Amino acid sequence: MIAGNLDRVRARIAAACDAARRDPAGVTLLAVSKTAAADAVACALACGQHCFGENYVQEAVAKILALRERTDGLAPARTAIEWHCIGPIQSNKTRLVAEHFDWVQTIAQLRIAERLSAQRPVGSAPLQVCLQVNIDGGANKAGIAADEAEALAREVAALPHLQLRGLMTIPEPAPDFASQRAVHERARALFERIASGGGRGFERFDTLSMGMTADLEAAIHAGSTMVRVGTGIFGARG
Ligand SMILES: *Cc1c(COP(=O)(O)O)cnc(C)c1O
Repeated sequence: MIAGNLDRVRARIAAACDAARRDPAGVTLLAVSKTAAADAVACALACGQHCFGENYVQEAVAKILALRERTDGLAPARTAIEWHCIGPIQSNKTRLVAEHFDWVQTIAQLRIAERLSAQRPVGSAPLQVCLQVNIDGGANKAGIAADEAEALAREVAALPHLQLRGLMTIPEPAPDFASQRAVHERARALFERIASGGGRGFERFDTLSMGMTADLEAAIHAGSTMVRVGTGIFGARG
């Protein structure tokens, strides 16, 4: 099931890139494996999927350790996984996140970013981070307001053990392509405005993470460089 689903998602991404006249190499597929078993991750890995996103820190760490155990001793090129934290992070979980993940896409407070930087283990690569922006302004939603994103980006860019990579958004579900695309275009405009400011710490500001199973085509049209797909790969969550 996972192999066929992955093929279908890859075909959707390829078709959307084609329609938008974009190079498919410019869109990374993040497989969102929250609630999926370690077996399912191993299966996707065997199908050539290397980037995985998790929302719940404790569940993720158990899976990360389980996968490491299974792939120990196998050729690294076939077993390397990049783990992305895409869920909210409470301050008492920052150490686990800093120790086990490669990326964090949900930075919305300087305080959390500072803890992640301070707790990144010595000798590890910098933690790759995106700011989560509340692009459609939902009142109870996570993410920093669009008009505060640039200031936070500058503060995060200055932290020593983090590498600022871009922005991430989770807009409210919208009913049709045009309305999905309109919200994603706002994120793209903000991303470009911040990128054009440039400066120290913005050398690798290259990631616009938006689009999920339901709206990845609209996100790719609007300039997404990373789509996060869960149910399209692993099936409906229980
Ligand atoms: C669950 C989740 C996804 C994947 O959603 P699907 O609709 O299952 O593709 C993407 N991003 C975030 C932040 C999520 O929590």
